[in-house]
Amino acid sequence: MIINDKEFGEVLVRRNALASGIRFSVSTSGRLQMSVPKRTSLLRAQLYLNANRGAIRERLPIKDPASQRARDAKKKILAKKAREYLPYRLEYFANLYGYQYNKVRLSHAGTRWGSCSSNRTISLNIGLMQVPEILRDYVIIHELAHLNHMDHSAAFWAEVASHDPHYKTHRTKLKQFSPGV
Ligand SMILES: [Zn+2]
Repeated sequence: MIINDKEFGEVLVRRNALASGIRFSVSTSGRLQMSVPKRTSLLRAQLYLNANRGAIRERLPIKDPASQRARDAKKKILAKKAREYLPYRLEYFANLYGYQYNKVRLSHAGTRWGSCSSNRTISLNIGLMQVPEILRDYVIIHELAHLNHMDHSAAFWAEVASHDPHYKTHRTKLKQFSPGV
């Protein structure tokens, strides 16, 4: 689970069967993490975070506000670029290969490049604006192919390959990048 927090950015919340209370830590990339007992709801985690802001600020080496502001500004620029590009690129490939999707959503989750839901909504991560165009196109083709195959079956990959014969290389290269901003 992820909490999008105004002060701390994306906070990763992990349910831990062995945890008896809530604990905070910081990941190597500087992101705040919360470990919570198994049945903790997202709302409860959020309330706990709110109630402990002062303590978190004091105890954990969170990025200073200036770099947090710089990150937010970067995210804003990226979101703008993404709005002006990704929906059109998606439309382009959908028309080219004859796919029909319902709508497109732009996301900025830290974990995935894109997704396709059963109501035919395609999500694309704004972080795609930071990767080479060929890899961005691979993600778009991947999500479009999910309109016909909601799995990663052999048939799914055959469909991806029919539009992107080098998809294996692109998939591997994409792993050098992280969707987080
Ligand atoms: Zn997939």
